Amino acid sequence: MATELTWLGHGSWAIRSGQHRILLDPFLSDSPTAPAVAENVQAEFILISHGHADHVGDCVAIARRTGALVIANFEICQWLGRHGVENTHAMNLGGSCRQPFGTVKMTLAHHSSMLPDGACGGNPCGFLLGLPEGNVYFACDTGLFYDMKLIGEAGLALAVLPIGDNFTMGPDDAIRAVQLLQPERVVPVHVNTWPVIEQDERGWARRIRDETSAEPIVLAPGQSVTL
Ligand SMILES: [Zn+2]
Repeated sequence: MATELTWLGHGSWAIRSGQHRILLDPFLSDSPTAPAVAENVQAEFILISHGHADHVGDCVAIARRTGALVIANFEICQWLGRHGVENTHAMNLGGSCRQPFGTVKMTLAHHSSMLPDGACGGNPCGFLLGLPEGNVYFACDTGLFYDMKLIGEAGLALAVLPIGDNFTMGPDDAIRAVQLLQPERVVPVHVNTWPVIEQDERGWARRIRDETSAEPIVLAPGQSVTL
C-alpha cells in the first residue's frame, strides 16, 4: 500500500503509511492556513520537532483525545507528561528507533526549542523516516548545515524543506540543501503562513529544476504527495 503524505500547512503533515496514521508538528487551531481542525484529525503516532507553539500546536489535545504515541525529544516528552500526555517515546539527536510504521531517526536542526509556557524544550530536530516505500527527510525548522550531505547518503525518496526565510532557511539556502541532500523529490514548507515568511514557491520550484536533479512538488495546504 502506498504512503500518502498530506501537507496541513506550515510545518504540519498527516502521513498515512499502510494502516498507520502519523502526524508531524500538528499546528492546526491557530494556523491561518491549516485545512483541517484538530478535533477531526486521527493519529496513532505524533512526531514533534521542537517546542515552539507553531509546532507543538495541538499536540496535547490530539494526543489526549486519540491516545497517540508522541515521539519527541526527552525534554518535550517530560513537558507532555506534565500536561496529561503519558504515552510518549523520548529520543535525542542522532538516535533511531523502530516503530510499527518504520524507523525514526532524530536528526540535527539549527534552531531553538523553548516550549509555549517558557519550559525548556531541549534541542530542536528534524526526522528521517524509513518507510516501506522509501526514506523521507523532514528538515523541520532549521538553517542550512553541511551535514545534510550525510543525511542524504541514506537515499531520499522525498525531502521536505523550509524555504520561508527569517526563522529558517530561505529559498537560496534551501537550494543548496537540495544539492547536498540529493533527494528524488522535494516539497517546500514553512512558507506563506504569515507575511514574514512569504516566498515565491513556484519561482523556487523553477530554480530547483534548473539547478538540481530533484523534482520539486509545490503543494497547497490539504494536498498530498504519494510515495
Ligand atoms: Zn516554525
